[in-house]
Amino acid sequence: MDTAENLKLEDDIYKHRDPDCTKPYSNQDPSIRFKDYTIWCSSKEYAGTRLVTITNALQRIKNRNPICSTIADFGTSLLNNGRLREFPSSAYNSSGGLGGEFANGGGAFAVISEVYLDSYSNATFNASGINSLGNVYSHDINLEWALVHELEHAMGEEGHSEGDPWLTPNAQLCTGNN
Ligand SMILES: [Zn+2]
Repeated sequence: MDTAENLKLEDDIYKHRDPDCTKPYSNQDPSIRFKDYTIWCSSKEYAGTRLVTITNALQRIKNRNPICSTIADFGTSLLNNGRLREFPSSAYNSSGGLGGEFANGGGAFAVISEVYLDSYSNATFNASGINSLGNVYSHDINLEWALVHELEHAMGEEGHSEGDPWLTPNAQLCTGNN
């Protein structure tokens, strides 16, 4: 069973070189985190049913609001350039997503776990906890949330709102979730 705990959205903005996926981690630039190497190098471009799923999710985000439209268009651009990808959640600590920017010319990217594609395009799971302000948060997380979250990181948004690990500035606005 998938839970919030094992679908957490890894990420953070970082500006180091693209991992060289033809070489083992021991041969990578030391600035590259193992997490980033592992997730990026296990990722692949969307095809078939999942391509339809991700395209539909981007369209729903786009239709919500002009700000959301800008985020969705950024996602579509990444998708068309092979920089919005899927990866097997099993590749790294049952991770849910990763978004940021590589610095060697590869630029912005976002990768979303296949679990979000297959299980949460039309369903949500609850993620709750206490943010850095000491307030309880409780979110309904789905594919669109993961997409907006990682795309905002890829667009340069660093860190999370209110110390809430699920929250980026437009995650709620652009998903319609609480
Ligand atoms: Zn994040």
